[in-house]
Amino acid sequence: MNTLGDPVAEALTSLRKTEYEVFCANLPPLDADIDEAVDALASISGRGLYAVRSIIFSLYRLDELPRLKNLYETLFHLDFVRLAAIDQALNKLGPDVSPDVLDRIDAGLTRYLTPRKPRQVLPTVANLRRKLNALIAAEDPDIDTSREKRRPPPAYGATLLRGGRCLVHAEYDTADALLIDAAVSAAAHQHSISAAEALKLLVTGAAPSPRVVLHVYRAGDAPGAPAYLSGFGWVDAATGEVLASGAARTIDLDEHSNSVSPHYATPETIKRVVEGRDGTCRYPHCSKPANACQKDHCLDYADGGPTAAFNLLSLCQRHHNIKTDGRVRYILDPVTDDVVWLFEDGHWEITEATGPTAAKNRNWVQTISQAMECRHAAAREEARRADSTGNPVTVPVDLEEVPF
Ligand SMILES: [Zn+2]
Repeated sequence: MNTLGDPVAEALTSLRKTEYEVFCANLPPLDADIDEAVDALASISGRGLYAVRSIIFSLYRLDELPRLKNLYETLFHLDFVRLAAIDQALNKLGPDVSPDVLDRIDAGLTRYLTPRKPRQVLPTVANLRRKLNALIAAEDPDIDTSREKRRPPPAYGATLLRGGRCLVHAEYDTADALLIDAAVSAAAHQHSISAAEALKLLVTGAAPSPRVVLHVYRAGDAPGAPAYLSGFGWVDAATGEVLASGAARTIDLDEHSNSVSPHYATPETIKRVVEGRDGTCRYPHCSKPANACQKDHCLDYADGGPTAAFNLLSLCQRHHNIKTDGRVRYILDPVTDDVVWLFEDGHWEITEATGPTAAKNRNWVQTISQAMECRHAAAREEARRADSTGNPVTVPVDLEEVPF
């Protein structure tokens, strides 16, 4: 949180800065023996081997993201947990990620982590991961076909573990995996058992397949843009297309964005509008998915507050209770979708909406679509020239056109 003048926040910033500088000064060179280097730093710092290894990788990753590094070395607002989350998410891009992909992700991430308002809440680790997945999903995989060709076939296996346990693992395309996960989660919820138990019941036929409900958000005016799956986050356009193609029902959320229901209970359509805007529980530092949250009337229904998206907020059970108890109040800004939280002790904080239809993300999806079209056009042109001359020709893409 951007809290200049707060002595506790400043002390913690100073601590993060010192830690960062100490690890940077003792960062092993790239050709060092990693195990020896990790052992040495773990002994000196008192941190675990895994933690030290993750710090080393995070700091090298930061070198690949110069804009983010510059922001971080100005604010020191990120801890090692968040830096490690960034490194781990970017590992999905593989070792031969192109510099222009990293450049776009660096720009998007830096923008996301740049505070723009006083007392703006720092994104949770979960929301940071969701944002990274969105940035990665926006990198169109069909342009880099070489990576696609090297992908191994879906894997399945069973691995013996200690203590009489065995791990069963399987790998699928994202859409198939999400459908399986939704079915397992639904069965687990229905029978009040763990997901692993539910998978066993489904596979052995001991329980019937549950009805799977997935809410996929796609921009109607931005073909090729990433899609958003409630409770999971952003997925690439191809995965969104597969999931949407199996949908039993399609709702145009624009038609319901200002709908008002005469009833207290929120109708399904208005719920989807609110969840699409909020993404998660809107209480500071909470990352409970919005589709698992209750819908709170900003102005109470009993006091004339309408049951409409502009008067409803996603709050998890715990934070709904805090609001109902009167320990906190909030104001929802209908233009920016920001929520200003007013606490009993007089301090206040701002949280931003993180759902796919939040004002900020609508613009992001639209501009992603435009950038994607530019890149497709460049890729098509490159392929056309390669065909006519027999040699590949590199077509420069103007990075200024890339909007994030
Ligand atoms: Zn919450």
